[in-house]
Amino acid sequence: MSDLKARDALQEIHPYVPGEFEDDAIKLSSNENPYGCSEKVSEKLSKSLNILHYYPDGGVNLLRDALSCFYKIDRDLIGVGAGSDEIIRTLFHAYLTPSDNVVFPEYGFLMYRLATMANGATPIAVREDNYTAQVDMILGAIDENTKIVILANPNNPTGTLLPQSEIRRLVENVPSNILCILDAAYAEYIDDEAYDAGHEFVEKHANVAVLRTFSKIYGLSGLRIGWMHASKEIIDNFNKIRGAFNVPNLSQIAAIEALKDQDFVNHTRKLNEIERTGFESYLKDKGITFVPSHGNFVLVDFETKERAISIFKALKAAKILVRPVGFYNLNSHLRISIGTKEQMDRLKQALDEIL
Ligand code: PMP
Repeated sequence: MSDLKARDALQEIHPYVPGEFEDDAIKLSSNENPYGCSEKVSEKLSKSLNILHYYPDGGVNLLRDALSCFYKIDRDLIGVGAGSDEIIRTLFHAYLTPSDNVVFPEYGFLMYRLATMANGATPIAVREDNYTAQVDMILGAIDENTKIVILANPNNPTGTLLPQSEIRRLVENVPSNILCILDAAYAEYIDDEAYDAGHEFVEKHANVAVLRTFSKIYGLSGLRIGWMHASKEIIDNFNKIRGAFNVPNLSQIAAIEALKDQDFVNHTRKLNEIERTGFESYLKDKGITFVPSHGNFVLVDFETKERAISIFKALKAAKILVRPVGFYNLNSHLRISIGTKEQMDRLKQALDEIL
């Protein structure tokens, strides 16, 4: 051991373990888009390789213009990060001190806990009911030390969705001195006019931030592009401490192009729904319990930890990678991303053999 010591807060943190990857395996472990990204994006990128020696636009201006135009929101209320992940970590860094706490549902995305702990603050994981966040419980957990409330809708890894009226009730009842983050990473998978990622709340509530990402339905996880819609004050604080060139130039170009190809997005949403419905029917027929999902993944309950581990291993041996979720205390569960028809057929066939 050296004499060099990092902050005490880091002692308790176990690094985030990403979904597994093997070259020749079907990857259903990280909720990526199994169809890749829009061809228009890859074509544009292949023609843009002559700018690699330039720094990116630190203000991410063209992408903010494109987002502003597409979503009809003020460009000054948009902040862009290297994935929504970076935005979460930067906001937590900007707002938290060690005496603060952060309130989130017990099965909230793991990064919420890690980013809280990285700042020496206290995570408060609030009990859910039937894998679904409870607004009253969240509000009830807020105390004088709460600085951030964060919730994903739909949520990963459960796939559950709160109705807009519940999100409104949350936003309207979180005190204005608490940052209220609505993480809408999977928003594009929802095909329901009543759903809004939360943008409608930003204008009225200076403490609300809505997070979006190009990692999921747009199929650009590898380029790391997320963005936030929030009050000018929140955006300014984010900009003060984010990296000066946090979003690579090719990522900015890709996101602008991706936004233009909504046919790809709609097509992906439809295929995801078909395959997810098919997989859920398969599970039902087999008598396997699962949480009905609104995302591009399904949380499956294999009843015991041992059975979940052995199915995980057997699938891996069959070259199908899924995600154990023991770090959420979901020890008997596996989270399985929705793949293409061919991939889901292989998965079902492998499960038939294993079970
Ligand atoms: N929020 C949620 C709920 C997620 O599931 C993820 C990715 N797994 C993220 C945020 C981070 O996504 P990214 O950093 O790729 O934008």
